[in-house]
Amino acid sequence: MRILSGIQPSGFLHLGNFFGMMQRGIRWQEKGEVFFFIADFHALTTLGDPEALRRNVREAALAFLACGLDPKRAVFFRQSAVPEVLELSWLLSTVTPIGLLERCHSYKDKLAKGIAPTHALFAYPVLMAADILLYRADLVPVGTDQKQHLEVTRDLAVKFNQTFGPVFVVPKEDIDEGLATIPGIDGQKMSKSYGNTLELFGDREEFRRRVMAIRTDSTPVGEPKPVAGSVLVSLYRLVSEPQELEEFISSMRRGGVGYAPLKKELLSKLERFLAPFRERYEELRAKPQLVDEVLEEGARSARAAAAPTWELARRAVGLL
Ligand code: ATP
Ligand code: MG
Repeated sequence: MRILSGIQPSGFLHLGNFFGMMQRGIRWQEKGEVFFFIADFHALTTLGDPEALRRNVREAALAFLACGLDPKRAVFFRQSAVPEVLELSWLLSTVTPIGLLERCHSYKDKLAKGIAPTHALFAYPVLMAADILLYRADLVPVGTDQKQHLEVTRDLAVKFNQTFGPVFVVPKEDIDEGLATIPGIDGQKMSKSYGNTLELFGDREEFRRRVMAIRTDSTPVGEPKPVAGSVLVSLYRLVSEPQELEEFISSMRRGGVGYAPLKKELLSKLERFLAPFRERYEELRAKPQLVDEVLEEGARSARAAAAPTWELARRAVGLL
């Protein structure tokens, strides 16, 4: 069983990334052959700053290692270390109906947030399909927001196989259906490119400031607070024990507690949860060569894993 997932270095990694993908993906290390990559080609669709890209790649690598990725068990690499993925993306483009991409929510959401409607942003799901198909992944751990892109991947794999013969493994998604998309501090999907994140390993003071800035309604202190749709509850649920959650919810329902103390309570549970990962992150940061070494080794393994499928695909279309 091969498990693969990627993350864009479009900013610093956040709670949504952790609970949506990283935690589950990293657990697969125990059971299968795991591939993780830092999707630097993808990040170029929203990030136009070369220094930021270099820094974010490093930070994403450290974050993954701090969250428990074990480079001895998982293949961990940069997407651009295997540039054949772009060529495969082109081959897949030839069987991609435009309408399929036009229906993708993620593209529409990003335009609505003011991100430039470039061809690369539009074609993002095709490159994502190439990422998955090149490495013959059976299973792809992702957050709920990527469900549609996984469907595109499956469609393209099937269409290519029907057109040119059986080249690709048709992958399945590994989504935690019980886990809704994790909201950011403004109540929208938490996203690196939306500026609404709670970063796993960012500045602690800024983290506190952002938790205290989580959008809430204007219910007066004395009144019961709405629980359904509350960002505070959605986040608290992730980092608390059932008993703690019950108390948190009943204190909201009772009224008499303002949002500021509720946010402080959330902050303390978030910090408790993140403490061991943050400690590990600081240890890893003190080893300057580590990230480069891990990613170089991962690139070698990834190239070797990609080669047979790449050859099959080229042969199937007549390039070989
Ligand atoms: P960008 O804004 O640049 O798209 P992002 O924060 O959405 O960045 P991605 O790199 O696109 O992060 O996604 C990496 C993984 O994290 C994917 O599996 C995605 O489903 C998951 N993920 C991202 N945001 C969330 C969220 N808010 N809730 C749950 N999972 C998420
Ligand atoms: Mg995203």
